[in-house]
Amino acid sequence: MHTRISQFTDKFTALIDTGAQEGEILSVGGKYLADLVSKDDWLDEAFTKTHPEYYQQYLLYLDPQARFCIVSFVWGPGQETPIHNHTVWGLLGQLHGQEISTNYDNDLNAISETTLNPGDIEAVSPTIGDIHKVRNGHNGTSISIHVYGADIGKVERSVFYPDTGKHKNFISGYSNV
Ligand code: FE
Repeated sequence: MHTRISQFTDKFTALIDTGAQEGEILSVGGKYLADLVSKDDWLDEAFTKTHPEYYQQYLLYLDPQARFCIVSFVWGPGQETPIHNHTVWGLLGQLHGQEISTNYDNDLNAISETTLNPGDIEAVSPTIGDIHKVRNGHNGTSISIHVYGADIGKVERSVFYPDTGKHKNFISGYSNV
């Protein structure tokens, strides 16, 4: 593991060890993440690979007590998520390329759009807004680093279909586990 990500992991673990609550995790941890994604020279090539059809989610680190995990999201041109939630806090930091997040309220009205360029960060959670759809905003590979307050690949959450008002439960898993 590259020094930058191992130092990030150590600092994030120390933050969680203090018993910090969500607001502090998002503000202090967000600064750690902004620092991590300010340089694009540390991510192992194995975790930067696109798939021709699907965006990829590579687990980089899982806290032994599953209090948080670190994931790289890798997008090919034109790839996007469905509208989904997380059910736990999440921090997103743009490492490479560009991602555009369309944010929804709980009634599935699109309320805002956030453009993330390298070094930018964003947060999601059930208390601050948890439903969004993300697309690659770049005509090449885009990569972002996400930190979630659980082993996100095992969390049961939802995909939403505003046209019908329906939703479907899903568990994302990881591309490399
Ligand atoms: Fe998301």
